[in-house]
Amino acid sequence: MKDYKLNTKCVQGGYRPGNGEPRQIPIVQSTTFKYDTSEDMGKLFDLEASGYFYTRLQNPTNDYVAAKIAEMEGGTAAMLTSSGQAANFFALFNICECGDHFVASSSIYGGTFNLIGVTMKKMGIDVTFVSPDATEEELDAAFKENTKAVFGETIANPALTVLDIELFAKVAHKHGVPLIIDNTFPTPVNCRPIEWGADIVTHSTTKYMDGHGSAVGGVIVDSGKFDWMAHADKYPGLCTPDESYHGITYAEKFGKEGAFITKATAQLMRDLGSIQSPQNAYYLNLGLESIHVRMPRHVENGQAVAEFLEAHPKVTKVTYSGLKNDKYYELAQKYLPNGGCGVVSFEVEGGRDAAQKFMKALRLAAIETHVADARTCCLNPATSTHRQLTDQQLEDAGIPAGLIRLSCGLEDKEDLIADISQALDQI
Ligand SMILES: *Cc1c(COP(=O)(O)O)cnc(C)c1O
Repeated sequence: MKDYKLNTKCVQGGYRPGNGEPRQIPIVQSTTFKYDTSEDMGKLFDLEASGYFYTRLQNPTNDYVAAKIAEMEGGTAAMLTSSGQAANFFALFNICECGDHFVASSSIYGGTFNLIGVTMKKMGIDVTFVSPDATEEELDAAFKENTKAVFGETIANPALTVLDIELFAKVAHKHGVPLIIDNTFPTPVNCRPIEWGADIVTHSTTKYMDGHGSAVGGVIVDSGKFDWMAHADKYPGLCTPDESYHGITYAEKFGKEGAFITKATAQLMRDLGSIQSPQNAYYLNLGLESIHVRMPRHVENGQAVAEFLEAHPKVTKVTYSGLKNDKYYELAQKYLPNGGCGVVSFEVEGGRDAAQKFMKALRLAAIETHVADARTCCLNPATSTHRQLTDQQLEDAGIPAGLIRLSCGLEDKEDLIADISQALDQI
């Protein structure tokens, strides 16, 4: 599918049925696979032949969908994971061991912040957080002898900052480490980080990729560009024999294009077992078949709602990188020329009481701990995900009590604006 445009890859990528085979991706609902001889199966265990033996490692349904996402992102290989959390953990843990360090943007999803700031620290993997707006010098200063990766989000959830991917990639490569980008919010329809120098791309497929709030999932895509062997001293896991896998050296046997995902599958998935169920992979693929049609509508609705809110007297601040006054407008013009996503955040006059009143008055937008869905939803962090924090702590975290995160769905924008307007009238 390499020569086709993105729209075509979304619809027909990954799975090309042969004569008389199912038109839609088959759901291979089987934990295991049958072989005639032990020798046949032995070859699979030795990674001498490709094929399936146990769904914890690989399943055909998942592989079709992973291959489609690899094509969409412009990568060479991909794997599905059970969640976005698993995708980010595996992407980092595949190259960072106990005693290692990596650099991460501080403007990232709360779950990822806990994963890398608390849980991975307990595993002996240290992180230095940098501002998403860090200069080259500030980024340089965050590197240590044992730094193995740089991590950031294209559009951060929920702060909606836009990352200067090219700059982060340049600095990562100068220090001989890969850049890992969580591209959940824009999806490959609106940004392909590999084209800007990212080496590994991750997603919570739970969001726009699924797009219908049906299935939790994640994916890791490898660009196939990072030369592990050129930095063999840093990446013993990829560049020296894996004793737990018959002494295979992944970077030698599978090259730049295949080493990262093969190791993540053969070693991490085998040992940690966070596979996506084939049924969920099937739902994910249904979402992918229309993502190129849905994303422009999410952006259109997000932009219209953001412009309406910006002009409203009861709204004190709007954050949306498609607005000319937004701090990230210039970067968004560069990295997201077709728009970013449908998520808008804004503050209403009157703090948490006003925010709660407003949300209660909404008829179309439901209150949910979710974003990036066909149905518009909203959340006031101060009274939900961050309710343990005081007003001062909320201010310090950049999440004022009156902040509302609104994820614009695929409804008619005039209906959405009318709903928001009547709800604002009630505060
Ligand atoms: C939701 C989200 C995650 C976590 O994904 P889950 O599928 O919920 O595990 C990671 N990164 C970003 C940017 C997200 O929005």
